[in-house]
Amino acid sequence: MPTGHLFIDLEAVAANWRALDRASAADCETAAVVKADAYGLGLAQVAPRLAQEGARAFFVATAAEGLELRRILGPEPRIYLLYGHMPGDTATIQRADLVPMVCSLAQLILHLEALPRQPFGLQLDTGMNRLGLRDGEWAEVAAHALKAEPVLIMSHLASADDPDSSQSGEQLARFRAMTDGVPVPRSLAATGGTLLGPDYHFDMTRPGVGLFGGFPFTQAEPVVTLDLPVIACFDVEAGECVGYNATWTAPAATRIATVAGGYADGLPRALQPDLDLMAGPVPCRAVGRVSMDLIGVDIGHLDNDPEALRVLGPHHGIDTLAHAAGTIGYEILTSLGRRYDRHYRS
Ligand SMILES: *Cc1c(COP(=O)(O)O)cnc(C)c1O
Repeated sequence: MPTGHLFIDLEAVAANWRALDRASAADCETAAVVKADAYGLGLAQVAPRLAQEGARAFFVATAAEGLELRRILGPEPRIYLLYGHMPGDTATIQRADLVPMVCSLAQLILHLEALPRQPFGLQLDTGMNRLGLRDGEWAEVAAHALKAEPVLIMSHLASADDPDSSQSGEQLARFRAMTDGVPVPRSLAATGGTLLGPDYHFDMTRPGVGLFGGFPFTQAEPVVTLDLPVIACFDVEAGECVGYNATWTAPAATRIATVAGGYADGLPRALQPDLDLMAGPVPCRAVGRVSMDLIGVDIGHLDNDPEALRVLGPHHGIDTLAHAAGTIGYEILTSLGRRYDRHYRS
C-alpha cells in the first residue's frame, strides 16, 4: 500500500442528487454543480454518474472545465459557466456549446457582440456582492438584455448554510423584485438554499457540496473514505517528543505509528491537535506537527500495530475534519491529494 487509498462512492453521490431532487417540486429542475473537478472527486467519474441518474444541467466555473465536461458527457446536457463569458473564451464557448452565465455589463456587451446566437444566462447580484449585475445596472439594461432571450437568470445566496440568517430572506426579496414577471427560468438556490424550502427553488436548484456529502446537507450519504498506510511503528519513552519543533511530548511511554499522508495530500497542518484517525472503531490521536507527507499517531492503546488508519469515513466525515482544521468541508474536498490511489464505487 504505497499511498493513501481514497474511496469515492458514486452510488452515494447519485443518492444525494436524487434526495436533493426530491426536495423540490417535480417541475423544478435539479442541476449539478461540478466545478473544480467535481469538488476534487473527479469530473470524469462523477459527471457521467449524475447524467445516468437523470441530471441534464451542469455548472462549472471555467470554460476549460466546460470543454472537458462536454468531451465527457457528449452533446446533450446543458453546461453553464459560472465565470460567464471571459475575454479569450469565445471560441471555446462556441465550440463546446457552453452557456455562459454572464456576470457583468462588460461581459453582456462582449457576449452579444461576439456570439449573438449562442445561448447565455444572466447572473444578478442580490446582496452577496461577488458576481452579477447590480440593481441599478439591471434596471438600465434589463429590456435590452431580455430581448436577446437569456435562457436562465440566477443569483447566489451568501448565508444559505445558516437557516437563522436574515440575509437569505433579504436576498430572496431582492431577487423577486428584480425578476418577478420576467419570462425567463430562474434559479437562486445552491445546496443551502435548496434546504431552506420551496420559496427558494424557482425553476432550478444548483446543488454542489450536498452531492458530495457536505454540510449543510446533514442527511447526505457519506461519499469519501480515506485510509492512510502505516509506514512504521515504534515505542517512545515518557518525555520523548514527536515531530517538527517537538510540539508534542509523550506524557507516558507509548507507541507511535507514522502514516503516509500530510499537508501536501490535503490534510491541513492546522488539524493537529484535534485529529483522530480510526483503527477500526478505535480512535487514535494524531500527535506532533502534520508534516508534508507524514503524520504521527499515538497507538499505545491498540492491541496490534495497524496496517492503515482511516482519516475520513462514514463516522468521521469531511465536516468533522474541516472543523478540526478550522475550515469547511468544501476546502477539505477540493484539497484531497493527487497522490492517493483513487477507487470508485459505481
Ligand atoms: C459553487 C456554487 C454553487 C454550488 O454551491 P454548493 O454550496 O456547493 O451547493 C451554486 N451556485 C454558484 C453560483 C456557485 O458558485
